[in-house]
This record gives sequence, structure tokens and C-alpha cells, in this order.
Amino acid sequence: DRKGGLSDTIAAIATPPGRGGIGVVRVSGPLCRQVAKHITGRLPPPRYAAFSRFRDGEGETIDRGLALYFPSPHSFTGEDVLELQGHGGPVVMDWLLSCVLQLGVRLARPGEFSERAFLNNKIDLAQAEAIADLIESASEQAARSALRSLHGEFSAQIQDLRDQLIELRCLVEADIDFSDEDIDFIEQGAVAERLQELQSILRRIHRSARQGALLREGIRVVLVGRPNVGKSSLHNRLAGFEAAIVTDVPGTTRDLLREHITIDGLPIRLSDTAGLHDSMDIIEQEGMRRTREEFTNADHVLLIADDQVGLTELEQSILGELPDNVSHTLILNKIDLSGASAERREDSQRVVLRLSVLTGAGMDLLLQRLKECAGFDGEGEGYFLARRRHLEALQRAGAAVAAAGEILKEEGPEEMLAEELRQAQNALAEITGEYRSDDLLGEIFSTFCIGK
Ligand code: GDP
Ligand code: ZN
Repeated sequence: DRKGGLSDTIAAIATPPGRGGIGVVRVSGPLCRQVAKHITGRLPPPRYAAFSRFRDGEGETIDRGLALYFPSPHSFTGEDVLELQGHGGPVVMDWLLSCVLQLGVRLARPGEFSERAFLNNKIDLAQAEAIADLIESASEQAARSALRSLHGEFSAQIQDLRDQLIELRCLVEADIDFSDEDIDFIEQGAVAERLQELQSILRRIHRSARQGALLREGIRVVLVGRPNVGKSSLHNRLAGFEAAIVTDVPGTTRDLLREHITIDGLPIRLSDTAGLHDSMDIIEQEGMRRTREEFTNADHVLLIADDQVGLTELEQSILGELPDNVSHTLILNKIDLSGASAERREDSQRVVLRLSVLTGAGMDLLLQRLKECAGFDGEGEGYFLARRRHLEALQRAGAAVAAAGEILKEEGPEEMLAEELRQAQNALAEITGEYRSDDLLGEIFSTFCIGK
């Protein structure tokens, strides 16, 4: 039970494992005052850093550091919170934590501090998720978007939309209640107009949330092609540094490939079909099987060929293996040798780029293409670092509002109209966590790390 045990006191090492200048043991719950007195010998003044000696149960000095006491409700969790900042070595931290745990405190579950903050109404669910996202963000842009969500901008927009839905629903329901009498609370045309407004706001929020989800999750791109066409060179160029060792001898690439790169803030998980070009004939059964496997996990496939050679049977067979739902680009590399100029051509089948990884000519076309395939506009402002869960809820809300619009147009019963509005309202409430199941809470907070 996620709600249970709110009255007990929890503790965890809040800093990352390993050695560091400072390590923090965080404690939350009613036993904080007692813990402070036992460990530091006194209760530190609220919200002031008190330089203290930390002692264990036998009075032996563990460490010296800062004790910070935040009395309820003015703390992160809303409960009494104590932070003991000592030296960040694993031995000292473990010793300090075990002394705290001997005082009737239990070890916190992953995300339990954030969960308590949520249950004590210090933050809503979208904000709690933003904490995890901020810590995990891989780019500055992602971090900025997470911060916006954490500061409640995303929640505020959702809340505002919900308020408008509720208002409209009340009018529609009032109209139902008084339908015998001759009171018209709201004109049919006005309802249609309001519904349309709600739709467009929902669309706008969904768009910034989708861009944010891309910032968070990125796209997975698979590089494929025959030996020596320049796969590793391209990978390096995209990664911006020598991650793989490129050699002139066909099939001798030794791949030490970095998987995560970002283009204007868009994270891209690149995967080279390593092994295929090194030791295997791609037309062989095993090679093709592994390539197919790579494709099923991809969002986009970059098929690379040598512009001097053009497409051979091998490239044709790879194209034939591409799943319908995976977009792809054909890259004709080494135009510095073939003498062609950088260009983008497209027909109904595919986009073809001519470029040179070596000279960099046409690389801008490729970056543009990748962003385009991700649906990423790269503007970078106003995004919310959304999760799939949020996108899905926004979509459901949108569908319900659209259904309400249909009912209105076909002059269906007002009860059904009100019901659709209620559905939309509930979908939005799931985002901030006002309408939730405990399963959902468990799912969200268990992915947090300990001490958060
Ligand atoms: P892979 O086997 O597909 O991974 O190919 P590599 O990236 O290892 O490249 C094979 C060789 O082609 C290396 O010598 C690269 O420097 C060279 N190469 C890659 N791209 C270009 C290009 O655009 N122009 C020229 N002239 N050489 C290239
Ligand atoms: Zn290679």
C-alpha cells in the first residue's frame, strides 16, 4: 500500500554512490528531531546549517559536517526533514545511515521522498515525474523542459484546461436540469465555439508535450550498409568525435561506438549493425536475420551506399526487408570521389541524400532529415518534458472533446455530451494525479532512485 506508513520515518543516502566531496543522508518523518539530537547532540535551528559532530550510538565520532533541519510543513516532503551532510565516502555514509536506522527509522524505498511530497500535496504527480526527469535529462534542453514541468507550468496549463471543461460541463448539466423550464444557460452555438477552443488548446499542449517526449526519449536510428561505405565514419561524424576506429581495409572497423548523441537537443540512439560489416556477409542467413532484428527496434534506418558504386543487389535486398512502419533514408556517400554534388532527392519510395562524410558536404541535409523524421522542430522553448502517459491522457481528453462536438452537431442528448466532458476532465486529472489508482503511483515512484 503506497499510502500506508506515512507516519513512520524514512532515511536514505541522497547523493550518488561512490566517493564525492559531500555525501548527504536525508531523513523524513516524525523521528527527525530525535535523530538530530542523538547524532549531533542537539536540535539544529530550523533552516540553518549547523556545523556539528556526528556520533554513533557509542558516542564515537563518525564525521563532522552540516546538519539541516526543516520542520513540517515547510520542507520538501511536507514532513519534518533532516539532512546530514558529511564527507562523501561510502564507508562514512553507510556508517552514518546505519546509525540513523538504529533509531527506529527505516530505509526509504526508491522515490519515497518524492512520493511523500506528492501525498502531502507539496507537488502534483506531473511535478514528481519532472524531478526524476530533471535528474536523468541527457541534454540542457531536456533539463530546461523538466524544470518547467517541475515549476508547475505544465500542471497549471492542464489545470486551466480542466477548469474550463468543468465550467462548460456545469452549464450543460444546468441546462439538462432546467430543460422543462424556459431557461437557456448557454446557446448551442456558444457551446460549439467553446468546444472548438478547448480542442485547439489541447492540440497545442499535446504538441509541446510530444516535442518534450522526443527530448526525453529521442529516436533510435540504425546504420546499415556493406563494408567500407562509411558507416563508422558517419557515426563518428554525428557523435562529433572519434568513437570508432576507422580503417582503410574493408571490414576492419573495430567498433567502440558511443550510442547516445544529440542533434540540437534531440537525443538519437545510434546503432551500427556491428558485426554485419565486420565479419559477416550480409546476404548470409545469419547476417540478414540480425539486420531484420535491428530494424524491428528502429524508428529510422539509414542505408548507406557508395555513390561510385550505386545500389547493388545487397542494398535492394535490405530495402526489401524494411518494415513498413520504419522510415528510412538512402545515403549515397563519398561524393567527393564520385564528383556529384550534395543533394536531396525524393520520390514516392524514399528520400535519397548524396553527401560526403569525409568533407562534410551535405551533412546538414542529413541532420535536417533526422529531425524531420522525428517530427522535431528544434525550437526548444515551451516544451514540457512529457511522458508517454501524459501524451496518452491528452489524446484521450482530445478524443472525448471531439466526441462531445459530434454529439452537439447531431443534436444528441445533452446527458451524453456532459458525459464526454466528464471523460475529458478525468483524463486530464490523471496527469496531475488527482484522479489516480495506487497501481499508477507504485509504477511511477518505483522507477525513481533511492533518496529522491
Ligand atoms: P564502414 O566499414 O562502413 O564502417 O566504413 P568506414 O567508416 O570504416 O570507412 C571506410 C573508409 O572510407 C575509410 O577510409 C574512410 O575514411 C573512408 N570514407 C568514409 N566516408 C568517406 C567519404 O565521404 N569520402 C571518402 N573519400 N572516403 C570516405
Ligand atoms: Zn564500421
